[in-house]
Amino acid sequence: MVDTDLVVVGAGGGLAGALRAAEHGLDVVVVEADEHFRRGNNTAMSTAMVPGAGSRFQRAAGIDDSPELFLADVEAKTAGAADRRVARALTTVSASLVEWLADGVGLPIELPVDMDYPGHSARRVHTVPGRHGSSLLRGLADAVAASDRIDLLCPSRAVDVQLRDGAVVTVSDPSGATEVITARAVLLATNGFGADASLVAEHVGEIAGATYHGSEYARGDALRLGTALGAATGCLDAYQGHAALSAAARTLVTWTTVMHGAVVVDADGRRFADETAGYSEFAAWLAARPGARGWVVLDQRIDALSRAFGDYRDVVDSGALRWAGNVADLAGLLGVPTSVLAGELADAAAVARGEQDADRVGRTSVEAPLAAPLAAVEIVPALFHTQGGLRVDEHARVLDADERPLGPVYASGGAAVGMSGHGAAGYLAGNGLLPALGLAHLAADHLAATPRLQEVSP
Ligand SMILES: Cc1cc2nc3c(=O)[nH]c(=O)nc-3n(C[C@H](O)[C@H](O)[C@H](O)COP(=O)(O)OP(=O)(O)OC[C@H]3O[C@@H](n4cnc5c(N)ncnc54)[C@H](O)[C@@H]3O)c2cc1C
Repeated sequence: MVDTDLVVVGAGGGLAGALRAAEHGLDVVVVEADEHFRRGNNTAMSTAMVPGAGSRFQRAAGIDDSPELFLADVEAKTAGAADRRVARALTTVSASLVEWLADGVGLPIELPVDMDYPGHSARRVHTVPGRHGSSLLRGLADAVAASDRIDLLCPSRAVDVQLRDGAVVTVSDPSGATEVITARAVLLATNGFGADASLVAEHVGEIAGATYHGSEYARGDALRLGTALGAATGCLDAYQGHAALSAAARTLVTWTTVMHGAVVVDADGRRFADETAGYSEFAAWLAARPGARGWVVLDQRIDALSRAFGDYRDVVDSGALRWAGNVADLAGLLGVPTSVLAGELADAAAVARGEQDADRVGRTSVEAPLAAPLAAVEIVPALFHTQGGLRVDEHARVLDADERPLGPVYASGGAAVGMSGHGAAGYLAGNGLLPALGLAHLAADHLAATPRLQEVSP
């Protein structure tokens, strides 16, 4: 039996909660089911884009932003369907969170100012050099390893949580041996249910046929553990999709290509939607096209700009890009009619040159016309993670159906209700990591400010 202040279940974004709690002088045990979590969880697989509205990095870059502007963007993207309390708490904490990642964790946080993300009205998405989650997670995990207040039990899966004078967490190792950890509180940070095909079919059926590209341990454990305690759930139909997983490399092509002017065509060479609407909803749209596949078409300028992303470089290194000297040769490589592909590119180029306000699919912004030589990379739609989960308040406390906190149980990241509303279209870049890191951070702050039982007892 181990006794501690906080048990963090899941070593992804939950590590931010562990580190913050330790900073407050609390003792923490992190339990992690996957011995390869440093590469295998969603935080490690991500592009490491974390929004912070009103940060000092933005001020240094001359960018005017605020939590209110960010919240308005969230409400616009979700058509008002995001959990307002959670969205407000996360947009409010976002700037201090990215600054804490720099100052408290020691991560080399930077603010890319070379591109816009769909739905963000200010350049507010911060990241780390290389723009890859493996660096972000390595920084968090290294800080955890260096802390004398945090113990990491791995591989060790939480299989039961009871609430008795705090939290009683039973964990199991791969041999089946169990151990009980008692704590003042538990933070459920196990991610969502993307790796559980039956839960995906039940709640996010429109993307069930797509490739799952996320943590294999996102098996809905928090959902089961939390609802067994009486937790309410919300927005279980919310998910982050992505339309641009390289078919050959199984790595993210990144939407930066599109935001710099690339277009997406289906297997017949036709564009079918405004690519700047958002990469999450585009996944289901691509899934509905012939063969559920398509191509991102780009040029040398976009290729050069996209190399700031480690994932994109991996796609290039895999040989998945097909280059051609002109549209006719590219159409031949893709097996689509030259007239169709040429027409689509000419339509987008006319928007880029200001000759028309919008193209056939309604896109109003194209950075520059594509210029030969041209390249195409084959893409398939993917499910990255589910977004809904246990209902939580502004302190990440898990709530019951009457909106009352269950007790000393917090949830963060894919385990919690999130800020993306319903479906895929509410996803803004950063809506994954902000609830993962931010709710964990808020949970630690709340626990630290909560008197211990013996302090309030006579
Ligand atoms: C390719 C890709 C790119 C992305 N890019 C971005 C981005 O740039 N910005 C953004 O905001 N979001 C992004 N996302 C989404 C983001 O990665 C997730 O929303 C976020 O990382 C979820 O964090 P988490 O802590 O909930 O889950 P995870 O990081 O997956 O951590 C959960 C951990 O819990 C462990 N676990 C599960 N069950 C148990 C159990 N019972 N006991 C113990 N341990 C358990 C798992 O093994 C895992 O290590 C991206 C996702 C993908 C796939």
